[in-house]
Amino acid sequence: MTNLIAIVTAYCACVSCCGKSPGDPGYGITASGKQAQQGVSIAAPRWVPFGSRVYVSGLGWRTVHDRMSRKYPDRWDVYFEDHREALKFGKQKLNLKLYDKNRPTKAAAN
Ligand SMILES: [Zn+2]
Repeated sequence: MTNLIAIVTAYCACVSCCGKSPGDPGYGITASGKQAQQGVSIAAPRWVPFGSRVYVSGLGWRTVHDRMSRKYPDRWDVYFEDHREALKFGKQKLNLKLYDKNRPTKAAAN
């Protein structure tokens, strides 16, 4: 288990967050191939393997399904269904407890 303090932001599947509209290929699909789901999905820095579990203070458990853009390599991004909810979340400095899923084959693929 790793304790982190990180900048956490929020996003949804909309065109301003992800560049895709409903009906576009890959709309709402995370980098891991899983459907993004509120209360479940979080985007993590690239060094964190998909499937890792993370406890975000004030929010609860999330699973790493997505990747941060290269612009913000150290941030985390919580998925919300609704763009306004994502905006409301804003940008927060939070404590994270990371439970690494420890899948060496996946790390090699990165
Ligand atoms: Zn959005």
